[in-house]
Amino acid sequence: MSIQHENQKLWEKLEGLAAEAEQLAAEAFRSVDKIAERNHWKVIQAFQRHKVSDFHFNGSTGYGYNDRGREIMDLVYADVMGAEAAIVRPHFVSGTHTISCALFGVLRPGDELLYITGRPYDTLHKVIGKPGDGTGSLQDFGIKYSEVPLQGDGSLNWERIEQAITPSTKVIGIQRSRGYDWRASFSVAEIELMVKRVKAIKQDVLVFVDNCYGEFTELLEPTEVGVDLMAGSLIKNPGGGLAETGGYIAGTASAVEAAAYRLTAPGIGGEVGAMLGTLRAIYQGLFLAPHIVGQAVKGSVLAAAMFEELGFVTKPRWNEPRTDLIQAVRFAEAEQLIAFVQGIQQAAAVDSHVMPEPWDMPGYENAVIMAAGTFIQGGSLELSADAPIREPYIAYMQGGLTYSHAKYGVLTALYRLVDSGLIVTKPHTT
Ligand SMILES: *Cc1c(COP(=O)(O)O)cnc(C)c1O
Repeated sequence: MSIQHENQKLWEKLEGLAAEAEQLAAEAFRSVDKIAERNHWKVIQAFQRHKVSDFHFNGSTGYGYNDRGREIMDLVYADVMGAEAAIVRPHFVSGTHTISCALFGVLRPGDELLYITGRPYDTLHKVIGKPGDGTGSLQDFGIKYSEVPLQGDGSLNWERIEQAITPSTKVIGIQRSRGYDWRASFSVAEIELMVKRVKAIKQDVLVFVDNCYGEFTELLEPTEVGVDLMAGSLIKNPGGGLAETGGYIAGTASAVEAAAYRLTAPGIGGEVGAMLGTLRAIYQGLFLAPHIVGQAVKGSVLAAAMFEELGFVTKPRWNEPRTDLIQAVRFAEAEQLIAFVQGIQQAAAVDSHVMPEPWDMPGYENAVIMAAGTFIQGGSLELSADAPIREPYIAYMQGGLTYSHAKYGVLTALYRLVDSGLIVTKPHTT
């Protein structure tokens, strides 16, 4: 007997709450569907323009010279992202590795990388490193780094950015998604304004966007509004839940080539690289990605609506526009955080019987608890939740290959929280 039936009354009450939230969010759901539909057609048209055929799915071995499936994949991605070029590979082991290749590709000793959206995502701290740290990090190679923290209200601090841009500033870094920060994510329209403004200050800077979790949540991608270089993970949005590993980089032809030289070797770049048996899943995943991203975003909207109804602070709010998958919910104590993440895990089809516990994950600075009952290890377009165990106690939930799964994930987590007495539902919902 599944846990939700032990207290059937509570389960039904939560289902009722979900039904109310769905009514409230009906209009928000419709606009998410609209974006998904338009992006789905955008992807299909890119496949058509590049005459994607069944034989492109075969893959290659050895050097992978003339792997047509790989070559066409790069063109399809460039087309979808509105970029001059792209490189899409299973050889990128993670989002961090992909971003690292992009940055090492275009930066040289003496150049400066300036992040204007505050401290970047945790796993990038060691890529940036420290001067003389001996790890081969950016700063160890003599690349300079600085960042301008966001202001209290989450906006960019232009006064400080203007001061921070110097003749050696080569790359401006922008992180679109909130990551593990209690701040707003940046919409593509906001990114467009950032590009215009930094280029007005220094015309030849390269603007880089960490696009992780952003793909297909809006009608445009950052490379369609003037961004020079962008990277993301295939086990997040654009892999559509099917890509088994990998990443992509899109941008200007010269920047993408520089990144490709870093992934393989100078002079080789994207011309080699056996795709083995990965192509069909990468193609089909891209085909599905806009729809699945829409399902996940609707799950996030529902989660926000329900937690707000129960008195919790969420980011974004249920009715705010979305530019990534991530739903942050702020809890009062670590126990609530842990119970929430465990509840998400309990709702999984895979590993629902495994109870996640906080652990010191490589690349992260605090203990992290993660719910990842996923088909692809760590695949976070699938329903998943993460929470660094630190104040303020914020859980970050994302994904759901189907809206229904996201919904039942939220219900299971709420059930766990209420049933264990960690939160009380308001009287009027009884
Ligand atoms: C996930 C993520 C990364 C890193 O990707 P990994 O695949 O976990 O290495 C970087 N930046 C942001 C904003 C992310 O969400």
